[in-house]
Amino acid sequence: MDFKYSEEAEAFRREFRAWLEANMPPRRERSEHEDIGSEIVRTDDNDWNYALQWHRKMNAGGWVGVNWPKAYGGRGATLEQMVVYNEEMVRARAPGIVNGLGIMLVGPTLIHWGTEEQKQRYVPKILSAEEIWCQGYSEPGAGSDVASLNTRAVEDGDYFIVNGQKVWTSGADRADWCILLVRTDPEAPKHKGISYLLVDMHSPGVTVRPLVQMTGEKGFNEVFFEDVKVPKKNLVGEKNQGWQVAVTTLMFERSSIAAMRDMSSSVMNLAKLAKKIARHGGSAWDDTGVRQKIAGFACEAAALRYGNLRQLTRRLKGLPPGPEGSVGKLSASDLNLKMAKFALELLGPYSQFEHGAPQALDGGSWNYRMLASRAFTIAGGTSEIQHNIIGERVLGLPKG
Ligand SMILES: Cc1cc2nc3c(=O)[nH]c(=O)nc-3n(C[C@H](O)[C@H](O)[C@H](O)COP(=O)(O)OP(=O)(O)OC[C@H]3O[C@@H](n4cnc5c(N)ncnc54)[C@H](O)[C@@H]3O)c2cc1C
Repeated sequence: MDFKYSEEAEAFRREFRAWLEANMPPRRERSEHEDIGSEIVRTDDNDWNYALQWHRKMNAGGWVGVNWPKAYGGRGATLEQMVVYNEEMVRARAPGIVNGLGIMLVGPTLIHWGTEEQKQRYVPKILSAEEIWCQGYSEPGAGSDVASLNTRAVEDGDYFIVNGQKVWTSGADRADWCILLVRTDPEAPKHKGISYLLVDMHSPGVTVRPLVQMTGEKGFNEVFFEDVKVPKKNLVGEKNQGWQVAVTTLMFERSSIAAMRDMSSSVMNLAKLAKKIARHGGSAWDDTGVRQKIAGFACEAAALRYGNLRQLTRRLKGLPPGPEGSVGKLSASDLNLKMAKFALELLGPYSQFEHGAPQALDGGSWNYRMLASRAFTIAGGTSEIQHNIIGERVLGLPKG
């Protein structure tokens, strides 16, 4: 087996590493959260502005949307280069950028499905984060089975009139635009009566209500649409055939969530924590049971990395992302949760201190992580749904 990357990918690594070394912003107090890598933690204005500045710098350097085609402002990076890009971001502990949904989902979907006019109008402002995007798929009665959505759009001259409600819409409170799934033919079978619209979040009739999560942060929202006028030119793909467009977006979503999440830095952080916790005149790290447990996590992180590399090999051979991606998503979110739980066991009574409490060890970041890690077992397809996919499509078990 050969785990080496190609010379082309290594040259890309050298270039990006040198750029990061020359341009990384100064560390901030909250930096211990950054390996969690999610926009849902970036809710206060300071965090947002910090990330926005960093985004602009990355974009000016040509390091945003690197896998987008050159014609649309990307670098046309190969899959292998993308893996290297993610590895270098983690290695440098670089802060995340803003407009993640725009960059990962909306831009690539519009490049694939949009009209030339839509591409010219929207794509450059996604890259520059001049316009922030959110994803309006889930509804109170449509999550895992999103095709049973009820938000309606009715034609009226040059417009669609939209009425309904979305929920769990990440970043809607900061978004300028939304990719919205609506039902345009209630009589058709559920997958065949859906359309895909680009909706201006500043339109009259749009109301955004932040939802507070158990971390205490407002990462996602309820969004209400009341007689919202959406120009017909904002339809992506054909009317009633939006499911195909929606699936393209979901493919980009799953592949970016599973994207080579390297958990080894979290394992190292856990080992550092064990060394800090005083026990019987030494530290928790002196306990063989603790070391064995952390070694187990290290093995799982390594297995995850090799599984991801296997996926990569498959993709480099020109095969589409397989259902094995579900194994990666499931294992990464499960490992994240198990490590956070174990950290709280190690912390004992200290685990009760919230993030930012002066007495908290590691700034309370493990307590925060425990609460935040649940989200990854739900977003982008719940763990139960991943189990179904693995059971049916990897193991060939009968449908449950
Ligand atoms: C952090 C975060 C960010 C999100 N951001 C967005 C966003 O920006 N835009 C957006 O549209 N949505 C977003 N979501 C919503 C997310 O896509 C849904 O929460 C997810 O699809 C699950 O849907 P649900 O919450 O309605 O749960 P449900 O689908 O109602 O599921 C409830 C429970 O039943 C189980 N279940 C459901 N169906 C099956 C089945 N067939 N077999 C076995 N078990 C099943 C589920 O696993 C779960 O445990 C986000 C969610 C999270 C956690």
